[in-house]
Amino acid sequence: MTIRKLAAGNWKMNGLTADIAEVEKLARAHPTPSCDVLICPPATLIAPMAQAIGTSAVAVGGQDCHATDAGAHTGDISAAMLRDAGASHVILGHSERRTDHEETDAAVRIKAHAARASGLVSIVCIGETLAQREAGVTLDVVTSQMDGSLPDGCTAADTVVAYEPIWAIGTGKVATMDQIAEVHAAMRAALEARFGAAAADIRLLYGGSVKADNAEQIFAVPDVDGALVGGASLKAADFGAIVAALGAA
Ligand code: PEP
Repeated sequence: MTIRKLAAGNWKMNGLTADIAEVEKLARAHPTPSCDVLICPPATLIAPMAQAIGTSAVAVGGQDCHATDAGAHTGDISAAMLRDAGASHVILGHSERRTDHEETDAAVRIKAHAARASGLVSIVCIGETLAQREAGVTLDVVTSQMDGSLPDGCTAADTVVAYEPIWAIGTGKVATMDQIAEVHAAMRAALEARFGAAAADIRLLYGGSVKADNAEQIFAVPDVDGALVGGASLKAADFGAIVAALGAA
């Protein structure tokens, strides 16, 4: 089965209105990319970015959503609101949210359920700490996080899973190709055991210091169906090079 790959950019808490120009530049440079392209800016930029890039090949996503559609939750944003603003995807359970906001697998799971109900694709993030890797428990940690964070009935139409070793995020340290291959194979097997044939084309992204100069090597690893990119997604030239490498993979 051929999986259409996904290059997803996570802007985190970066970006002001003027930075939408970078995404317009990206969309102009890649009018018909050979992979899906997504930018997840801060919530303030979702609607203006979606309007600015219109019907281009670049999609827009959120970085988190609440588990309910509306109500007394000051400062939160719902999946329905993201969708209304022009988002098609939402990142859930990023390690920074698991740390900064104490998000548990169970919390991520109900958010993913809410995202699906609003027609959003969830990009569910999992990954081990350096201490867990050194203790030799990486595969147990990531498969247990994945199992706890995904709701029942996931398919490729509503779910993407991103493996992001925490020690590789924003550090310039990249997992070795063997480490990535081992984890992605374990993720695929666990997805197939739980979701059956529907799991075969669920996209598995690698994230953690992906840059133009390591993208080609990472995209050649089996079961890597794209990347979730932080720092190198902020500038059109940097992210465009990753999009090109993924399209050629
Ligand atoms: C991320 O934030 O998901 C990420 C992978 O960041 P970076 O690419 O900067 O390591």
